[in-house]
Amino acid sequence: MMAEATRILLDESRIPRNWYNIVADLPVPPPPPLHPVTSEPVGPDDLAPLFPAELIEQEVSAERFPAIPESVRDVYRLWRPTPLVRARRLERSLGTPARIYYKYEGGSPSGSHKPNTAVPQAYYNARQGIRRLTTETGAGQWGSALAFACAQYGLECEVWMVRASYDQKPHRRSLMRVYGATVHASPSPVTSSGAGILAEYPESPGSLGIAISEAVEVAGSDPETRYALGSVLNHVLLHQTVIGEEAIEQMAAFGEAPDLIVGCAGGGSNFAGLTFPFLREKLAGRMDPVIRAVEPEACPSLTRGTYAYDFGDAAGFTPLLKMHTLGHGFIPDPIHAGGLRYHGMSPLLSHMYELGMFEAVARAQTECFEAGLRFARTEGIVPAPEPTHALAEVVAEALRCRETGEEKVILTALCGHGHFDLNAYDRYLSGEMEDFPLPQERIDTALAGLPGA
Ligand SMILES: *Cc1c(COP(=O)(O)O)cnc(C)c1O
Repeated sequence: MMAEATRILLDESRIPRNWYNIVADLPVPPPPPLHPVTSEPVGPDDLAPLFPAELIEQEVSAERFPAIPESVRDVYRLWRPTPLVRARRLERSLGTPARIYYKYEGGSPSGSHKPNTAVPQAYYNARQGIRRLTTETGAGQWGSALAFACAQYGLECEVWMVRASYDQKPHRRSLMRVYGATVHASPSPVTSSGAGILAEYPESPGSLGIAISEAVEVAGSDPETRYALGSVLNHVLLHQTVIGEEAIEQMAAFGEAPDLIVGCAGGGSNFAGLTFPFLREKLAGRMDPVIRAVEPEACPSLTRGTYAYDFGDAAGFTPLLKMHTLGHGFIPDPIHAGGLRYHGMSPLLSHMYELGMFEAVARAQTECFEAGLRFARTEGIVPAPEPTHALAEVVAEALRCRETGEEKVILTALCGHGHFDLNAYDRYLSGEMEDFPLPQERIDTALAGLPGA
């Protein structure tokens, strides 16, 4: 219909009115989170110190199409709907007959897909009279999204930022402060979990698992404070489905149906956000895309982890989540894709992976940066280090199509820009960037610490 178009922009009236909950359409429901002491499924009362009631309800709900509150849609209007773009110049540089499309989430206030869930999370907390939110952040994407969302709803925001990123990405820290948040390097001396780790490892680069422990500890000890998580949980994946709902409409406007959908997966939220609505269409027999997650070789929870109950954090404060995990004690090497350095994978996605609903591959960071540079030099957008993993897969697939002549339609999530990651690009350009192939012993050691192992 619009095969000649390059960008499909939708009117703001096309912002979705509902999120899509894929749990309603799964043949088997995902295993529940368990209480770490009793091993019973956790109930709403167990979660109430950490999350507001409406998010707990969304976490366990099987309602297929929960309504998006008007207040949230109104904030979404600041940047949604996001563009869907045909990467013609990338295609040309690869000499491929494949047609490549990307859904660009980098135009949000904080520069990634994260505000799609930060805004509703801040909204539901504010409605319940909560005064302050705590959270962890890796690369700073989630912390800056939540800081922005808290500013929209008059909430205080306190962020524990993984030490490695705190040092590598000072401008993300500045952005959080601009939005009004307080930022600590994690491990920090202000929590007992952080202080304990610092006593043992004063030079600890931190991990998302440690930072989560710190944020959860503070939220759990103050009735006016709750905790917000930027990935992994069902309600987060739910909120991100606005990406895929818009993309379905935009692909139809291009007159295309994807043969392959590729996304990077850290905790899995941008991947789920793009793919779940397409999976609904696939389950209903209306399209048949192959769906593929890409993770870093340095932190390969889906491709090399175990499917088992594990803690979501390093200290063991959270409920036990059944997921693909490298072990909650796993500390990944300091690759630049901070958002992909989580030891586990979303339990919902892990369950779906076991059901064979999507594929996963791992890629090394230098080939990802190479793809990121190619994308920047052709399409003009500098991708965040995380989606360069998806781009490396897209490039490899497009080159395969060049060999076979296949006119494959490839769709990917360009989930954030890399304007705060230019030092990482500098390191790549000056030849200083290394890959961190992960020895099996490190995985085995961390897995030996699984609860019940
Ligand atoms: C946080 C982040 C990720 C990783 O989180 P997911 O939940 O797997 O999406 C990936 N890309 C960007 C740009 C991020 O900010």
